Amino acid sequence: MAGVEKSGRGIRAGTPDLGTFMAIAGLYVAAHVTLDRLTFLHPFSAIGITPWDPPQGLTMALLLRFGLRYAPAVPVAIGLGELLVRHLAAPWLPALPTLLSVVLTAGGYVAAAAILLKLYRLDADLWRVRDLVRFLAVTIVAALLVAGALVGNFVAFGMIAPGDFWPAVLRSWLGDYVGILTLAPLLLVASRPRSRRRRQATDPGMMLPVMELIAQAATVAGTVWFIFSFDFPQEIKLFYLAFLPTLWLAVRHGLAGAAFGVLLTQVALKVAFQVRGYGAPTVIDFQLLMVTLGLTGLLVGAFVSERRQVSEALWESETRLRAILNTAPDPILTVDAAGVIESANPAVKEVFGWSCEAVVGVPITRLLPGLNPETPEPTHEITGRHQNGVSFPAEVAIGHADGGLGPRTIVVTRDITRRVKAEALVRQHQTELAHVARVSVIGEMASAIAHEESQPLAAIAAYARACRLLLQAPDADLAKISSAIDKLAAQAVRAGNILNRLRDFLHRGEIALVPESIGDIVSEVIEFARTDTASHGIAVIVDLEPGLPPVMADRVHIQQVLLNLIRNAIDAFSESPGPVKEIKVSAGRQEDRIHVAVRDTGPGIDPAALDGLFTPFSTTKDRGMGLGLSISRTIVAAHGGQLRHVPGDAPGAAFHFDLQVADV
Ligand code: ADP
Repeated sequence: MAGVEKSGRGIRAGTPDLGTFMAIAGLYVAAHVTLDRLTFLHPFSAIGITPWDPPQGLTMALLLRFGLRYAPAVPVAIGLGELLVRHLAAPWLPALPTLLSVVLTAGGYVAAAAILLKLYRLDADLWRVRDLVRFLAVTIVAALLVAGALVGNFVAFGMIAPGDFWPAVLRSWLGDYVGILTLAPLLLVASRPRSRRRRQATDPGMMLPVMELIAQAATVAGTVWFIFSFDFPQEIKLFYLAFLPTLWLAVRHGLAGAAFGVLLTQVALKVAFQVRGYGAPTVIDFQLLMVTLGLTGLLVGAFVSERRQVSEALWESETRLRAILNTAPDPILTVDAAGVIESANPAVKEVFGWSCEAVVGVPITRLLPGLNPETPEPTHEITGRHQNGVSFPAEVAIGHADGGLGPRTIVVTRDITRRVKAEALVRQHQTELAHVARVSVIGEMASAIAHEESQPLAAIAAYARACRLLLQAPDADLAKISSAIDKLAAQAVRAGNILNRLRDFLHRGEIALVPESIGDIVSEVIEFARTDTASHGIAVIVDLEPGLPPVMADRVHIQQVLLNLIRNAIDAFSESPGPVKEIKVSAGRQEDRIHVAVRDTGPGIDPAALDGLFTPFSTTKDRGMGLGLSISRTIVAAHGGQLRHVPGDAPGAAFHFDLQVADV
């Protein structure tokens, strides 16, 4: 069954294979003729117009459900009906007008189906009121046009007197339309795809409790029986009672119930007509009322179905939303225009200590004192306050919604205590690493310091001795003495500066970025390393682009980076001295960054060391710690830059890093 998918999805139009097509078409033709035969009653005049023609309902249901490709089956079914039902009843009917009437009827209903499917893109499941209304409107007009054409045809052939044109049209239209009303919606609803029906699981229309259905069917039959227990025309007056059971079905079970009620009422009526032996004119009166009942019942049913679907969809989306809110680990609060909390999800208990019920009506500022709902930033960090008064760092995201009840602010809060702690830990770790490195280089520096300090100290001692000698002289030269004391003081200041620098270097400070001159930083470091470079016979070249702006830097930290790089170069030279011993420190501007490079003419990085160059404790030196480069990289990263080894940029090794230009 390629064309009609029945498994799981119910009956759906596809491209049927020939077997399927023939099976459906054959079934339709057989059902059409059978129905025609069963309902062929009270024909009007000789041409056999009946007051209830359900085969037309079958035709509409076939075309709408399975598509227009079944259109060829329609004239076949109607023609066979004519032949087997009407013609047998009136064998004298001439062939041509009968043939024409078949073509007109089939053409009319196929056209109606084409308009509905192609023009209005009707959903044959009739889920929406709009689709039902279109169906009812198009078929009412189609039935009228078919009736007019049909009767006109018979009048033209002299089979109906021209004076009978309008009564005949009325009857033909009524018969067809009541036939469509009573059968097509029910067939379309009953053949809805199963997957969509399951969606309606809460719609009792699809799980009709059998007892209730029996009671309702019995009420329909009972009401009709009651109406017809009176004599004509009393039944007409009482016909309104027949609305009640159908409306009951419509209200309880939507369109499915209504369609069922309408068909049941019609069948009950038909039985009553037969029992009573009513003639055509009386039946017509009832059928007019039946149209009203059918339209009312179906429309009420469709409204009920649609409403039920809407509320079900709403309920579904609400359930989904509630599930999301209930599982969200972060508090999500809605706040009204006055800043008062309107709703909260359960996570509010975990983070703020408030239950979601208790927090409603509380000003949001009690939970988030620094909250600014107007902030343009999508997320920002502020302080949250737990119900027990404890503050914690929180990240909030703010959204706005403007529903029917006025503007709302949606606040999503995240407790970032753990993140902040982790960040602090990382920072502390970095600082400690840097400290370790500083301590590790102190051994090497100590000799340099001693060397530097020895000079001013020797000078101080010399000046002190000179002063003493001058003072001991009989005619002490006060001018000389004071000059010597000045020089002594200057040397003392120099010695002090050297010590201060050492203290600065050893001080475990946090990184504090302030505008600094890169020239000053570089020259101080070179000064610092001079003893070492000089003793190894290394030339240090400084190449600074003129007019460099200040950079954002922590002077001591960046100096440590430079010192590490310079010391590594010195070490490299001492390990394999070459003909030219040169370290070049250069700095230049690239947009808003200053690029600093330290290049040497040494042996370059040992290829074996390349991979773990920046990995802590990887060293090629006997007494190395393997921390210098990793710490330097961390320091540069804390400045928002990157320290890189640039292979091939120097005869030896080349290291580059960049710093942000200060906005001054
Ligand atoms: P350490 O100096 O304690 O070994 P570093 O992290 O500063 O630790 O350096 C890691 C390794 O990188 C050194 O052992 C050395 O092999 C290599 N290296 C660093 N700078 C240079 C350089 N300028 N020339 C040659 N090798 C270098």
